[in-house]
Amino acid sequence: MATTATERRLFIGGDWIETGEWVEVRSPYSGDVVGRVAKAGAAETRRAVDAAAEAMGEPLPAHKRAEILVKVAGALGRRHDEVARTISDEAGKPMKAARIEARRAMSTYTFAAVEARKLAGEMVPMDASQAGEGKLAFTLRRPIGVVGAISPFNFPLNLVAHKLAPALAAGCAVVLKPASQTPLSALLLAELEEEAGLPAGWVNVVVGPASELGDMLVEDERVRALTFTGSGTVGWKLRERAPKKRVNLELGNATPVIVEADADLDAAAQAMAANAFSFAGQSCISVQRIYVHRDVRDAFLERFLPRVEALNVGDPADEDTDVGPLIDDGARQRVLEWIGETKGKVVAGGEATGEGLVRPTVIAEPAPDDKVSCEEVFGPVCTVTGYDSLEEAIELANSTRYGLQAGIFTANVRTALRAAQELEFGGVTVNEAPTFRADQMPYGGVKDSGNTREGPAYAVRELTEERVVVIDL
Ligand code: NAP
Repeated sequence: MATTATERRLFIGGDWIETGEWVEVRSPYSGDVVGRVAKAGAAETRRAVDAAAEAMGEPLPAHKRAEILVKVAGALGRRHDEVARTISDEAGKPMKAARIEARRAMSTYTFAAVEARKLAGEMVPMDASQAGEGKLAFTLRRPIGVVGAISPFNFPLNLVAHKLAPALAAGCAVVLKPASQTPLSALLLAELEEEAGLPAGWVNVVVGPASELGDMLVEDERVRALTFTGSGTVGWKLRERAPKKRVNLELGNATPVIVEADADLDAAAQAMAANAFSFAGQSCISVQRIYVHRDVRDAFLERFLPRVEALNVGDPADEDTDVGPLIDDGARQRVLEWIGETKGKVVAGGEATGEGLVRPTVIAEPAPDDKVSCEEVFGPVCTVTGYDSLEEAIELANSTRYGLQAGIFTANVRTALRAAQELEFGGVTVNEAPTFRADQMPYGGVKDSGNTREGPAYAVRELTEERVVVIDL
């Protein structure tokens, strides 16, 4: 059962603000109210942009930004239990996964602090052309301006950290709109930034109707960049509507993994069972489509299915739970419908439990046009399909509109390198589930999965602009 009932106000211009209206936050598991948050509208969002623009009028030096980022990392460590519990309560994320997320946020802030200190331009070799002879030139990296950040429910802390920390490292003030279902972790993070000494206006958090708040961020010219993580439907529309802004999109995937005949099948089965169902599959890089060489398909299933059956499904507040609830009933119904529609064979799970959870589900040999084969399930469901040649497997893996991360298990380095070159994804993992992510990596997608790279080093580049300085000697 959820254990906290938190009340939070909005954070705008260094003040915690009430509006007289509230957004209720409910546990996706028990339905209990776990918190309520003051509800923002257009007026509060405009005020937040005012505060951010004003804050940027007095730039913070890099050492100050880095110090604050390091302090936030420390506070996340000291308040680990509270942070993990908040994630678990509002998102229904099992404590095991919530603890990992809380620790990841420490790493995100730590790497962002490094980037704040390293942010530098480069020399331009001016005498490389006749026109440049007698001149010296270098670039400065300037903060792009106020950043509008919009984040999803599934990593309510760490995906917010991936917005706030690089923006501060880059010297940008932020107006953040977290997901309405999970605003508590974001507001807790804003509190930690405030306590770490961040001056007023550098971070502002507004919670409320998505289109109203989103419209303000799109329309206000002072917001120079939008950084969005969420669904493609919303993300690509935002980009269309904001042609003059930089719009960085981190979107969905239908994550494939290829298991070659020479792969370590135990390692592959272990990795798939751990990464297809964690947080009920509600991760953009949750393993969804497993392609196994036909020679070892049955041997793989023999190793994989018992591991799936052994997962603990239940209360996310329980430290032993592996798979908790989907975010809401609509999501649960959709996932059950997609399972019901498949032309493949359900070989594990396939149904709801009494408490409104969906059992970890494995579908063998679905049809290529089943939704579970070509759309993002975002639920505790994966498919297992046999193939005869590597060529065929790569073609199958590439056969969706998504391109975030993909993986291959093989003992052959040539096969691995061929897959790395031919899989059309932003990242390819070898002998590791494609759910793997670390903050020093560039992380992002191609095709419908997005147009940017996150990870503090890469996000800071996206949130700064180069200015060239030319000196006549
Ligand atoms: P979503 O429905 O697109 O929501 C994401 C955010 O956008 C929320 O804050 C939402 O606000 C807001 N939003 C919705 N409509 C909007 C509008 N018209 N204008 C401005 N903002 C709007 O996505 P989700 O269901 O929360 O997240 C799941 C998706 O995110 C999946 O596709 C997943 O793969 C993707 N994802 C990608 C990554 C990555 O790094 N590539 C990471 C995690 C998740 P409300 O909550 O108030 O509706």
